[in-house]
Amino acid sequence: MTTHAALVHYHEIGLKGHNKRAFERRLRANLAFALGWTDERRIRIMAGRLVVPLGAGETAAAVERLALVPGVAFVAEAEIVPRDATAMEEAAVEAVVRAAAVGARTFAIKARRSATDHPETSPEINRRVGERVRLATGLAVDLTRPDVTCHLDVVQDQVLVYARKVPGPGGLPVGSAGRVVALLSSGIDSPVAAWRIMRRGAVVVAVHFSGRPHTDASSEEAVIEIGRVLERAGGLGRVYVVPFGELQREVSLAVPPDLRVLLYRRLMVRVAERVACEERAKALVTGESLGQVASQTLENIAAIDAVATMPVFRPLIGNDKQEIAAEAGRIGTYGISTRPHSDCCTLFMPRTPETHARIDEVDAAEDLLDVERMVSDAIGGMRWVDFACPVYRAPGIWPASSDAHPRR
Ligand code: ATP
Ligand code: MG
Repeated sequence: MTTHAALVHYHEIGLKGHNKRAFERRLRANLAFALGWTDERRIRIMAGRLVVPLGAGETAAAVERLALVPGVAFVAEAEIVPRDATAMEEAAVEAVVRAAAVGARTFAIKARRSATDHPETSPEINRRVGERVRLATGLAVDLTRPDVTCHLDVVQDQVLVYARKVPGPGGLPVGSAGRVVALLSSGIDSPVAAWRIMRRGAVVVAVHFSGRPHTDASSEEAVIEIGRVLERAGGLGRVYVVPFGELQREVSLAVPPDLRVLLYRRLMVRVAERVACEERAKALVTGESLGQVASQTLENIAAIDAVATMPVFRPLIGNDKQEIAAEAGRIGTYGISTRPHSDCCTLFMPRTPETHARIDEVDAAEDLLDVERMVSDAIGGMRWVDFACPVYRAPGIWPASSDAHPRR
């Protein structure tokens, strides 16, 4: 009897001992969640991979869905057949035919045995099945650069046969690395930064500052849309939206123009930390890249970090803009980020912001503000939207989505 399945493979680097079991269980739960399944035990953990049983018609869509989940190295559409010579050959022929693109001329069979007493060696399986596929398809064998590679993994008394692999994001399953708060603008960079940290297993809670009431709500709408894209990886718990325009106006009235952007940023960090405390998050994440704009010089980054009490991660610090934009394209956020929308950072901005701020000067300017009250105002005006995430639980003081942006 043949069964259709998606085979989910992960990289085993760094996974030893019982660490590995916890990793596999977390990944299994996240895969089940991605498919909308309530019973994750339908997914079997089998010799270093996860086997997701599927009906014949649902395989392709499920494979695409599973390939978005962090921790997944690749997903393959597979047939599971008994350890029977004819069944193995027929499944291989079918897999090669399905995977062969127009113009494909060559193939290879790659058998692998694990946890089995199967009498044939891997080279013997390769020769036998390869000969059958060659006769049935007319394709030629090429072991160095084949157009199609068909794998036969012999596991116990079953054989997993697959040729089409869809690459996943790699990384670690969400929920294996705690929680972070990402400062999420509607620009190109910060969604990529949030995604990278999510890919390393962290649950992301985002905080967005909009220029409202001095701008329209277009950046808020963009950020919720970005959230819907990040949600597909299962690592976004919630997006908090802070109307920040009035506080920016207050800053702009009190402090020298060239220091405004730094003071906006320091306020953002303080508000984000307040959220992080309630969320029990252990770090902040931003999308800064060294030297990209005025606020991202070493001096200014130091002036911003001076008010942070938790680690501030900047996953893009060494990346060029083109690299970041290309990654945003792959993730699916680029189109949203580049659509015209309002941006609070340009509110009340001088033409020449400080690029090499001295921390004592910034501190002195900030003394002109009632920072504590401003942070409280920001928190008081905040609204939030929840996203589908298998491991997120909302903090008690801010339960369930607020009404600003109803779900879907
Ligand atoms: P991005 O493309 O992420 O907007 P950027 O190139 O515009 O970044 P900056 O404006 O200097 O750079 O912002 C640096 C970082 O500060 C952003 O990546 C983001 O993490 C945070 N940040 C900036 N503006 C906001 C905002 N309105 N809301 C939340 N976070 C913000
Ligand atoms: Mg920006």
